[in-house]
Amino acid sequence: MDIQTSFLDRLFESGLLIDTGVDGLYGRSAQFEDVIAAFERLIDRFGGADGAEVIRFPSGMNRAFFETSGYMKSFPQLAGTVHSFCGNELDHMSLLKCMEVGEDWTKDQEATDIVLTPAACYPLYPTVAKRGPLPESGALFDLQSYCFRHESSKDPARQQLFRMREYVCMGTAKHVTDFRQSWMSRGVEMMTAVGLEITIDVANDPFFGRAGKMLANNQRDQKLKFELLIPITSSAKPTACMSFNYHQDAFGAKWGLNLEDGSVAHTACVGFGLERIALALLHHHGLNTVAWPESVRKALWG
Ligand code: ATP
Ligand code: ZN
Ligand code: MG
Repeated sequence: MDIQTSFLDRLFESGLLIDTGVDGLYGRSAQFEDVIAAFERLIDRFGGADGAEVIRFPSGMNRAFFETSGYMKSFPQLAGTVHSFCGNELDHMSLLKCMEVGEDWTKDQEATDIVLTPAACYPLYPTVAKRGPLPESGALFDLQSYCFRHESSKDPARQQLFRMREYVCMGTAKHVTDFRQSWMSRGVEMMTAVGLEITIDVANDPFFGRAGKMLANNQRDQKLKFELLIPITSSAKPTACMSFNYHQDAFGAKWGLNLEDGSVAHTACVGFGLERIALALLHHHGLNTVAWPESVRKALWG
């Protein structure tokens, strides 16, 4: 049995995560949720004075927006779409027959207007674009959503439905890169406060295919993505628990996000992987949160 499996097994045995029979799809216990809630309050303490507009989208987004986003160009392997039965009574009979004999009953399901949200910030850009030009001083948003990624794994830190808390900043290049820089410092400070050792490194997204390699190299060369890494299931390959992304004016141009002076807005987002942070804490300090070091408990629960 490898190390990853045993950490997952211990999480199941302790009841912190609940097996559903699908890798990467888990229930969460009250104790697990309490860690996430406490960490989110810590995020609020660091980011709360910035005056971000709080928006909560559900874990599904408008399929038309998803199509415009270009997600299927870059990450088709991760996307999840919502399909439904749209037939008549006759179709229903053949559907049930199909299920009865164990054939594929899903092939006649039809796409709905909804796809699963791949990252908390995806529904935001078209929403803000609809409002008209952004003030010269920029705009800041506080988001949190369950996100779906089709990346089944025995690693409890790689789930298929997990929560991402994000701050998204829009404005001039300087404004949004300053925002990103300040959250890198805050990230280090927060993780230190909860007793976790971290590193920050330049990173790239898992762009699909051969053309994707070039996109990934470009992203790294231009230092468009950084990750805050914490060892969870491997110390050789620590896990990304936060990411700091600078989109330049790519999203601004795509969605028509303009500043009042007519220039295209630059954007950046900072994402917290809430399950990963909870798992890092549980892995490092033990599965019983009551027994965590006093300083860590104080930082989280006051
Ligand atoms: P990784 O490099 O591990 O695949 P990522 O770089 O694709 O992660 P982002 O797209 O930057 O992740 O998402 C923001 C944050 O969401 C990550 O820093 C991470 O903490 C969290 N996250 C991403 N994918 C998962 C997942 N499958 N399960 C749990 N958390 C995740
Ligand atoms: Zn984002
Ligand atoms: Mg990554």
